[in-house]
Amino acid sequence: MQQFFQYKNDVTIFAIYITPITLIEKLLRKIPSVLTGDFKKREEACRMCGELQGKILAKVDYWDIKQSDIVQCPSCGLMQLDPMLTQEDTDKGCLAYYIEETLRVSKKEQERNLVRNFRRGVVFGNELKNKKIIPDEVLELGPGSGYFTAGLKFVFPQIIVTVLDVNREVLDLNSKTFGYNTIKAIPEEYIDGLKNKFDLIIARDIIEHVIDISKVIKNVYEYLKPGGYFHFITPNGHEDVWSHYLRYKQYQTRSDLLINHVNYFDGSGLLQFLKKNKLNPIDYYIYKIKTSIKGKGWKEDERLMAPESQKLNADLFVKDKINQIKDYHFEKEEILNRWFIKEEYKFITNLVGRFHHFNIFKLPPQANVGHEIYGLFQKYQ
Ligand SMILES: [Zn+2]
Repeated sequence: MQQFFQYKNDVTIFAIYITPITLIEKLLRKIPSVLTGDFKKREEACRMCGELQGKILAKVDYWDIKQSDIVQCPSCGLMQLDPMLTQEDTDKGCLAYYIEETLRVSKKEQERNLVRNFRRGVVFGNELKNKKIIPDEVLELGPGSGYFTAGLKFVFPQIIVTVLDVNREVLDLNSKTFGYNTIKAIPEEYIDGLKNKFDLIIARDIIEHVIDISKVIKNVYEYLKPGGYFHFITPNGHEDVWSHYLRYKQYQTRSDLLINHVNYFDGSGLLQFLKKNKLNPIDYYIYKIKTSIKGKGWKEDERLMAPESQKLNADLFVKDKINQIKDYHFEKEEILNRWFIKEEYKFITNLVGRFHHFNIFKLPPQANVGHEIYGLFQKYQ
């Protein structure tokens, strides 16, 4: 029996997929393309395994703040910036990106995103419930608007939520809107007093942004109670790097890295890394394959290529535009005033959530096909 479980964990989800999906896997065998590039001695060792060599996949400009290569580690498969951004670089770039995104996405769409996140939190909560997982203490790294965890709290009203972020405004918003506890820190920083504290740690779309993934995962492990859970989503690195890779491969030119994705994860490498850090996979799969069908990760199409770098001036951008985002403000009562969100009919909220966010295709991340990697891992007892 022991061996069976060991086997199941190693080969992960492969075994549980039904035949049509195996068929799709065969059809998609060409994906992702093997990424080619010259090797170089890295300026900084791989943050996951310490390797000193790297295969150059792309060259990127992080605004006008830093020039880096994206290199792939030949040992663990992690694709990463070299040299890595510093904390100061990301603070500056993140503010510029936040403004850029706020102005690009309409207010209506942002409202919809908040509702979507709430629904996803409800669906996630119910999935935990089905697994007989009932958390009390929850930590979210980089909570954004806080609506995902609000959805989780809708399912588990008893949970005590703490959010950790480097940005004071984000924390104030979370505390004001939802009453969460807040900690101002970067996820790499070890916080005394959090050891063995949490039943669940959430990091949705966070680990691709962190400068030192090893430190972050060590902290996650330390902060979890024995048997506690770690939930994350992160882009499939092979698709996420594709636009930059194409530009460099075709024209040997640089592209803009406006959002600070500094890690591009390989499905196998990430699994091995988490297991090495004593986190055991419960659910591990990739969802959303629309992007792969469109060609991300395999098709050498100009339309999928990142534009050539403009080296936008981050300071100037912030100075020019910061006043334009002042009126972006959302009231929780308005956002959550939907027919399907009612305390007394929680099963309807869950049903609607499942309708919107049910993943028909769940592919093994080892195949690196599809858009987003989903993980639910458990700390060893
Ligand atoms: Zn490595």
